[in-house]
Amino acid sequence: MKKLELHWQILLGMGLGILFAFILSYFEWGSEFISDWIKPFGTIFINALKLIAVPLILASLIKGVSDLKDISSLSQMGLRTILTYLSTTIIAVSIGLIIVNVFEPGKSIESDTREELVESYGGDAELTRQNAEKQKESGPLRALEDLVPDNIFGAASNNSNMLQVIFFAIFFGIGMILIPEKKSRPIKEFFDSLNEVILKMIDLIMLAAPYGVFALLAALVVEAPSTDLFVALAYYAICVVGGLLLMIGFYALIVGIFTKKSPLYFLKGISPAQLLAFSTSSSAATLPVTMERVEEHLGVHRQVSSFVLPIGATINMDGTSLYQAVAAVFIAQAFGIELSFAAQLGIIATATLASIGSAAVPGAGMVMLVIVLGQAGIPEAGLALIFAVDRPLDMIRTSVNVTGDAAVAMLVAKSQDKLGDPQVKEWDDKYKKEDFDNQIE
Ligand code: ASP
Repeated sequence: MKKLELHWQILLGMGLGILFAFILSYFEWGSEFISDWIKPFGTIFINALKLIAVPLILASLIKGVSDLKDISSLSQMGLRTILTYLSTTIIAVSIGLIIVNVFEPGKSIESDTREELVESYGGDAELTRQNAEKQKESGPLRALEDLVPDNIFGAASNNSNMLQVIFFAIFFGIGMILIPEKKSRPIKEFFDSLNEVILKMIDLIMLAAPYGVFALLAALVVEAPSTDLFVALAYYAICVVGGLLLMIGFYALIVGIFTKKSPLYFLKGISPAQLLAFSTSSSAATLPVTMERVEEHLGVHRQVSSFVLPIGATINMDGTSLYQAVAAVFIAQAFGIELSFAAQLGIIATATLASIGSAAVPGAGMVMLVIVLGQAGIPEAGLALIFAVDRPLDMIRTSVNVTGDAAVAMLVAKSQDKLGDPQVKEWDDKYKKEDFDNQIE
């Protein structure tokens, strides 16, 4: 029998996980069985992916930057990457704002439903608010300060310091470009081979993906809160999901226009990463797979993907920013607050910044939402309104986040003339030849 493609295997794993959890929840011992005996395998799977993230960034980014050969191509690529990321995020927030203003989901929330929600989720929302409070206490240049670690081992020992690891890797790569090639060659070869080993490890982890997502989704089903309140929030959730789907269409469109690749080619190539983002709700955990798919299935040269994707996983969160815009206005509508045009423009700015600041982990977008709410003068207690449906929306917005990173990687690759055909491996041949030329020099 022909082996199923990876995205079908993952989908099958997800479907069976949900089915399994529903069947077991008919038994009294079912939920406990899943929590004790199934969920740990999901956790192991996510841990294995996260385990790879820091070494992957170090190896691939150092190799990618040092391959550039001169600083001007680095700054050119850096500028293009950041500008494209910013543009897609602003478009995402704007789509969110248009949808929430046209459909006004908050107006359909009755005041007794609102009170019920605040009562049920007020405690959880308070915790989220306190987390956000800690972030808000910092000064305006805090993000910049945080970018530069004072100890690389300290930074590399914590997955939430990814930006610091990225900073170190780029800095290290620049150092390598600036010394004579003969001297940098051994270290380059070291990182090159480290990179290969890590990519192989990702292949191995992905063999377990269908089973990992089975466990993750089964655990999610038995831990989900009651469905009654979901219904009240359905209209809001539909607005967020509608906006997120539009974003996916938008990516397929710009990839089609600028790279002349069909939307199907793009979506098929990236789908395992999307499904994994959906199951893990973390762009950081999905990063290794996003990189593998973009390089090996979408034809982006490693020099580009190793630079664009780790940065994207941490700062480019279009799905998150769209969600934050919809959620903020939804809460304002539910509390009967009219937002002026200027306030909505303010939301574009804060949601863009908040999504950049959101960590690539589950639920981070909701923590940063507090900042958007605070800035727009919307009551933070409103978080309780959207708590019940946040997890499913987190799953979908994370898929959009990684799709956005992949789309931008393709655009930047095209603009740098580094987009090849994945099957032909023309880049490998070309670069092998260049390596050869270098050696003769
Ligand atoms: N879970 C999202 C991510 O990792 C962030 C968010 O909560 O929106 O991309």
